[in-house]
Amino acid sequence: SPTEVTEALFSRIAEVEPKINAYNYLNHERAIERAKTVHVDLPLGGIPIAIKDNINVRAEPCRCASKILEGYLAPYNATVIEKLTKAGAILVGRTNMDEFAMGSSTENSATGLTKNPWDLQRVPGGSSGGSAAAVASHEAFCALGSDTGGSIRQPASFCGCVGLKPTYGRVSRYGLTAFASSLDQIGPLTKTVEDAALLLEVISGFDPNDNTSEKMPVPRFSELLETLSLKNMVLGVPKEYFIEGIDGEVREAINKAIAHFESLGAKIEEVSLPHTPYAVATYYILATAEASANLARFDGIRYGRRAKHYEDLLDYYGKTRDEGFGSEVKRRILLGTYVLSSGYYDAYYLRALKVKEKIKQDFSSVFKKCQALLTPTSPFCAFRIGEKSNDPLQMYLADIFTIAVNLAGICGLSIPCGQSTEGLPIGLQIIGPAWKEEVILAIGHLYQ
Ligand code: GLN
Repeated sequence: SPTEVTEALFSRIAEVEPKINAYNYLNHERAIERAKTVHVDLPLGGIPIAIKDNINVRAEPCRCASKILEGYLAPYNATVIEKLTKAGAILVGRTNMDEFAMGSSTENSATGLTKNPWDLQRVPGGSSGGSAAAVASHEAFCALGSDTGGSIRQPASFCGCVGLKPTYGRVSRYGLTAFASSLDQIGPLTKTVEDAALLLEVISGFDPNDNTSEKMPVPRFSELLETLSLKNMVLGVPKEYFIEGIDGEVREAINKAIAHFESLGAKIEEVSLPHTPYAVATYYILATAEASANLARFDGIRYGRRAKHYEDLLDYYGKTRDEGFGSEVKRRILLGTYVLSSGYYDAYYLRALKVKEKIKQDFSSVFKKCQALLTPTSPFCAFRIGEKSNDPLQMYLADIFTIAVNLAGICGLSIPCGQSTEGLPIGLQIIGPAWKEEVILAIGHLYQ
């Protein structure tokens, strides 16, 4: 019964959570109450699910792993939460993340870091590291994360799970704390492709509360998984994704996966996405610009934590923000404010918008001849805790293979495709055109 399943999950959490720290908040009582009354014949009837700490659930904390949101209780449900609830899911708790989803390791969290269940000395990736670690350590059957530049796919890859970044506009962002609104999407982190398809089906769809959500039909992703044949399919391998610096074992595992698809009948073709080298720089201009505007709302008046000692209103804003935001968030606000300032707007922000368009065109032209692209999700496996935390530029490069997908607004899936000799998971990224999640899911399903 749902109650037994939920109780079993909470005993698993009690057992491993002290080692992993995947959750920022757990609501055992509420989950059990819900389990007692939920209808099991609903699509997710009685399935416990973990939610990233930046998605609002009514009357529960939504901290975004930040000090500034200490004490804040969400007054409403995000649209995805409404949809999950209607589908019969049971909400377990809020998972840890990099503060305001800024990072690639879950080390930038005011609630302490999360450890990779495969090796406790290593990071789970980020920013949805808590969601990925919870799924990998069986502290959750499935979870929701958010992906602005790789934050679902990269932790999925580091933790050996499945992670999907939907097409921009597929899933409502209403109730997701905005980081970079033009790039953010909510998506599933699961153990199997089938679970990802089922979750996506439930959370997708047009929402009048989000004016960037699109009026597109939602295919029955879970029923379409078996319908694809790789015969006559062309899968592209972008040469810019096999650069120097990519780990030898990662390269080998990806080559094996590519050969496997070829043996299943797919035609493999090398393609070029020439603007790939500019993706990281473009992303860090656009994402920080949007973040600097989005985070202006945290002024100590409307949400959460307030400075106690101040002189006047300006001092109050300043102190609240200085005390409440961590250093990565401050770095992004400064960068974003800089690229938007009148003297630099044309040189940085406007130019980045143009490059974003070029990156989008790169993908459109390769998708004229290929149905999907195969790449590594990350150039390396999970790195050691502390290894990159003092070098923001190194950390920014962790998303070198995932960022372009967000800039182009298309969809991407990461699935496990092997292990390093140290036993760390390796992820394969399957990139698809906009609104073609059923294709990348079916390709991923064939591999599993
Ligand atoms: N790691 C990237 C960043 O720090 C992406 C984060 C995300 O997708 N939310 O911005």
